[in-house]
Amino acid sequence: MTLRSIEDLAAAGLTERDPALEQVAERYAVAVSPALVELIDRGDPDDPIARQFVPSVEELVTQPQERADPIGDLAHSPVEGIVHRYPDRVLLKAVHVCPVYCRFCFRREMVGPAGLGTLTSAELDAAIGYIAAHPEVWEVILTGGDPLVLSPRRLEAIMRRLAEIEHVRVVRFHTRVPVVEPERVDAAMVAALKASGKATYLAVHANHKREFSPAAREAVARLADAGVVLVSQSVLLRGVNDDVETLAALMKTFVENRIKPYYLHHPDLAPGTSHFRLGIEEGQKLVAALRGRISGLAQPTYVLDIPGGHGKSVLGESAVTRGDGCFTIRDWQGQEHRYTGE
Ligand SMILES: *Cc1c(COP(=O)(O)O)cnc(C)c1O
Ligand code: SF4
Repeated sequence: MTLRSIEDLAAAGLTERDPALEQVAERYAVAVSPALVELIDRGDPDDPIARQFVPSVEELVTQPQERADPIGDLAHSPVEGIVHRYPDRVLLKAVHVCPVYCRFCFRREMVGPAGLGTLTSAELDAAIGYIAAHPEVWEVILTGGDPLVLSPRRLEAIMRRLAEIEHVRVVRFHTRVPVVEPERVDAAMVAALKASGKATYLAVHANHKREFSPAAREAVARLADAGVVLVSQSVLLRGVNDDVETLAALMKTFVENRIKPYYLHHPDLAPGTSHFRLGIEEGQKLVAALRGRISGLAQPTYVLDIPGGHGKSVLGESAVTRGDGCFTIRDWQGQEHRYTGE
């Protein structure tokens, strides 16, 4: 059973009974799925799985620069459930529930039992109507919350409606389910994610190699075998994956499981998450250290969602500097070379 309170977590030996933690749980949703409970090493006070999901009193500290809506979703929401920030793609947020609640979540003020809930059928009609009425929308990105908490029947209904919209060519899911609740990804779920005539992409959110249990690997394989194109999504997190070894191992694990590394997010300014954040320069160094050290297939793009709703920007250090009459290019070991071409 999913653990949903400090009492549940304490009974499972994963935390102490502490009134301050009760306060955290009142403010931000708590859920740790059975698959994750299995993965936590209770003997390790720095366990990277526990750190992502078990509440900590540090969450009571809110810094002035932190925001309830750190990436500015609300500024670009023309109708309930739709975020339309870039011309050719929209987010469709049908549900604001997740199978687990990450302690660093960028939408932590919107998700959970006290969050924005699930779109009503009238709201879903209006959201799909918006997509149908905007021929520039080439891609629909189902996110939330976690869209894979919906039943295969409901997902299939959404996919059938998107399939009817000629200008939508690609449907992308962002989800943590294959890793945190792998048993949900059964044949019916896999079938529901596909829509006739459209390409289905699915971004798997994972932040540490240890999240890839044998069951998670099998769930991912079922998706890949069915022709769903898999990409990754991770958050750079202090105390979880903020060293080169751990990041390299995570990215290689994605590739071994047929998941192409896509984004490594700089942590957002979500309330009560300062203990997870590191500096941009530290992040740039880590990402630069991956280059050359591990396969080109395993390189993620390091990005920040600019607070205020201005979209994502790449944070990688540039390898190129312009000198007089030529460029200087830095190689993966830090050596500089003159490039005299154009
Ligand atoms: C992140 C995001 C996307 C997807 O961006 P990509 O760079 O295409 O992955 C689209 N819309 C919104 C509002 C987003 O926040
Ligand atoms: S799965 Fe995503 S939306 Fe849900 S709690 Fe984690 S980061 Fe937030």
